[in-house]
Amino acid sequence: MIRFHILTLFPDMVYSGLNESILKRAINADLIEIECVNIRDYTENKHNKVDDYTYGGGAGMLMQAQPVYDCIEAVEDKITSAGRKRAKVIYVTPRGRVFDQSIAKEYSVEEDIIILCGHYEGIDERVLEESVTDLISIGDYVLTGGELPAMVLTDCIARLVPGVLNNADSAETESFSDGLLEYPQYSRPEIWHDKAVPEVLLSGHHKNIEKWRLERSLEETKKHRPDLYEKYVANSKKL
Ligand code: SAM
Repeated sequence: MIRFHILTLFPDMVYSGLNESILKRAINADLIEIECVNIRDYTENKHNKVDDYTYGGGAGMLMQAQPVYDCIEAVEDKITSAGRKRAKVIYVTPRGRVFDQSIAKEYSVEEDIIILCGHYEGIDERVLEESVTDLISIGDYVLTGGELPAMVLTDCIARLVPGVLNNADSAETESFSDGLLEYPQYSRPEIWHDKAVPEVLLSGHHKNIEKWRLERSLEETKKHRPDLYEKYVANSKKL
């Protein structure tokens, strides 16, 4: 069981985005828990404000340290008073390490994960220094807020939790799991728009099917992600 605690100014957006399909089943089966906490509930400002101008000038507003800090501490207190260890606090930010399947795998063994979503121009640096353990980016582009990145992380990590996917093999044969992109897949009918399913997949010959899939994985990776292909070839030579 992993418990995701997502700290955001827009909890409904995050919760409704994650409470569907496979993740909804996982929540109902107690395989994962998703708690969205509204940072605004922790502000000491009498007008409920959580942001202010940046020192030194510049466009836009910044989320202030106090509500973010108090929100993180309240969630950590809840976790530790239930007898679990303090959670990692991941701030999603374009400044972070770029998220990938191997990082998802690292996080999938945690009991609790706190994901902090920034908004506006981001968050006061001092609370990041004090409370955040990991900085993660979902790519080299800038979004309006951390809610979509938090959903990306949660979805990707949750599906690595045993039992979340119906078929135990699914996550192990997918793109990136072995450093390659996935081979093409086909379902019924056998012929569609004059295109036939490759013969070998209808043969029932498992060895040949595996061989075909590996070859197609290599081709797809070489064509679409030459960087991954080079890495795969270099690693294979080391073995
Ligand atoms: N001023 C920040 C900068 O230049 O790095 C961008 C702030 S962005 C408009 C607002 C928030 O969206 C950030 O605090 C972060 O939480 C989130 N965000 C935007 N792009 C992101 C990305 N590529 N990966 C992760 N989080 C992102």
